[in-house]
Amino acid sequence: MDGTQILTLGLGLEAPWILKNQYLDTAVSPHRLDLYVEAERGSLYPCPECGKACQAHDFADKTWRHLNFFQHHCYLHARVPRTKCPDHGVKRIEVPWARPGSDFTLLFEQAAMSLVKEMPVLAVSRQLEISDKRLWRIVHHYVGRMLGELDLSKVVTVGVDETASRRGHRYVTVFLDMQRKREPVIFAVPGCGKDAIQAFSAFLAAHGGDPNNVVEVVCDMSPAFLSGVTEHLPKAEVTVDWFHIVQTFTKRLDEVRKKERREQGHPKSLRWALLKNLDNKNLTPKQLSALQELVADQSATADAWVIKEKLRWIQKAPTPRAARWRITNYLKVMQAAVSEKSLLKPMGKALATLERHADAVVRRWLSGLTNARLEGMNGLFQAARSRARGYRNEANFIAMIYLIGSPVGRLFDQAKST
Ligand SMILES: [Zn+2]
Repeated sequence: MDGTQILTLGLGLEAPWILKNQYLDTAVSPHRLDLYVEAERGSLYPCPECGKACQAHDFADKTWRHLNFFQHHCYLHARVPRTKCPDHGVKRIEVPWARPGSDFTLLFEQAAMSLVKEMPVLAVSRQLEISDKRLWRIVHHYVGRMLGELDLSKVVTVGVDETASRRGHRYVTVFLDMQRKREPVIFAVPGCGKDAIQAFSAFLAAHGGDPNNVVEVVCDMSPAFLSGVTEHLPKAEVTVDWFHIVQTFTKRLDEVRKKERREQGHPKSLRWALLKNLDNKNLTPKQLSALQELVADQSATADAWVIKEKLRWIQKAPTPRAARWRITNYLKVMQAAVSEKSLLKPMGKALATLERHADAVVRRWLSGLTNARLEGMNGLFQAARSRARGYRNEANFIAMIYLIGSPVGRLFDQAKST
């Protein structure tokens, strides 16, 4: 086997294509290897429309970047014909080593995608020595193509969460199939609320699913989400995340603390202590003494903190019935306490939120759907954010969420091996 045969094999060339010429240029840095591919003179080529063997009408010179040959950049050159089909006229043929419109060979793109699944896009672009902009174009092509093959016909329970594409930026709403153990993300869209739910409903229908089959949605309590579910997933019961209940109370607690501090003053480390969980063992001694001081004193912040902490009593309810009973009694006791101190007004709002969504909160005992999955999403979002670093926009962030968190990454591996 000579060098030409080895390279032909490496390129996966088939008739009528043959490697005609190769040239290693060591005068440039990095060195480049140019491979010239041709078809035998007088070859027939399949019409891209009907596959009928046709004669070439004319040729155009094209170049593709190929995988490095050791440390040398490698380029593939070919004269690509247009066929003249009696039925379809003059058409440019597709070559077997690259997809239409791409300046890279399929092998190059596959290598790029394998790397992008494992490391930040910017790092991959440096390693492959192409611009990150071009690499992102490859990523978007393959993610889009694999998304097209996503089968959502079995989706019946859905989790919804939102995250900022980066700090202070627009939101991205992510939908999970709560029944999928691995790679649960099935849809991600810029924006949030009702529009996001509507977009999901349309996406589901376009991928073999049926919005009417969705019987359960786990989400937060934002009115926009809830009205979106009512309208676009009409058969779904809503389960509210426990995580979001606690979040609501924590936010209101912080309002009380700020207001009271403005009026009376508090130890400085208090804010951080308050925002941490009581179970958290990572409190500094200073925070711990601040907490002790807090519990001992009669401040509104201390009361608010107790109100928030007692949510655990509801959370520990063994049955839906018990949960309902505990919520009713918790609300009764806490509402009475709140009405006695005007500084506690924000906590009254948190209690009203809980009261309003009590049915949806109790559903977590019935549906068996917990938000552990949703909370686990934070890790995914962080990973996606760091992979998309350097050329950040929502579309890139979303492409990374799909690649890491959805079945798209695996579909790509399967497609590659066939
Ligand atoms: Zn034809």
